[in-house]
Amino acid sequence: MPEKPSKPSQPSRPRAAKPLSADEVRHFIAALARANPNPRTELQYRDPFTLLVAVVLSAQTTDAAVNRATPALFAAAPDARAMAALGAEGIAPFIRTIGLWQAKARHLAALARLLVERHGGAVPGERDALEALPGVGRKTANVVLNVAFGEATMAVDTHIFRVSNRTGLAPGKTPRAVEEALLKRLPPETLGDAHHWLILHGRYVCRARKPECWRCAAAAWCHFTPKTPAPGAETPAAATPRPTPPRPPRRRVRASPIARPR
Ligand code: SF4
Repeated sequence: MPEKPSKPSQPSRPRAAKPLSADEVRHFIAALARANPNPRTELQYRDPFTLLVAVVLSAQTTDAAVNRATPALFAAAPDARAMAALGAEGIAPFIRTIGLWQAKARHLAALARLLVERHGGAVPGERDALEALPGVGRKTANVVLNVAFGEATMAVDTHIFRVSNRTGLAPGKTPRAVEEALLKRLPPETLGDAHHWLILHGRYVCRARKPECWRCAAAAWCHFTPKTPAPGAETPAAATPRPTPPRPPRRRVRASPIARPR
């Protein structure tokens, strides 16, 4: 399926919906989880180093474009030492099809050099050490910490920023505000995968120009209005009914042992 390029730095804020209640948040994320039980990043990588390189390359570029370039790059430079030895001039020919390739080639060369000098060629698992690397900001560090080190971080890109505001899941004026709201509002046990669920939902269903509400698993819990109708339908989709919880069994009332007055 084609995907839209990310513009992660300062996305414009969509109209923010009324915040979902705690119960609605729980149902919303559970619906995305049921629709995609094993979410994964779409970037191809084989270890923390190649993941870090792929995430740096993915800034303002689609994952598909990165995946077309990285197999040859990783064959030539499978680790930090080889990437540092390649240098910016050696890296550039592999990534010319990717946006901002000149700056990214410089960043990757410097990043690889620092990994060798400071970390013995390994990718550090601490936020401060990651963010000290060239081309690595908070969002990139969050992706690496989540995917490579299993930390409950939330990398807010343009998709997560939009979905969080548009639906009322975690409204916020900046990516950092949305990140903090999501970490606070989502059930802790969902934080490992929530970043993937929300990115993929924004990329393929809750799209920027026109959300595809008619086929959205979480529509019953979303505050966005009016919902987009299915193609060919003339009126906005009617509100999706929420599943009714089962009724508790009725208690049987025993006949009173007290005799009625005659
Ligand atoms: S109902 Fe529409 S606006 Fe709400 S999350 Fe689904 S696709 Fe997005």
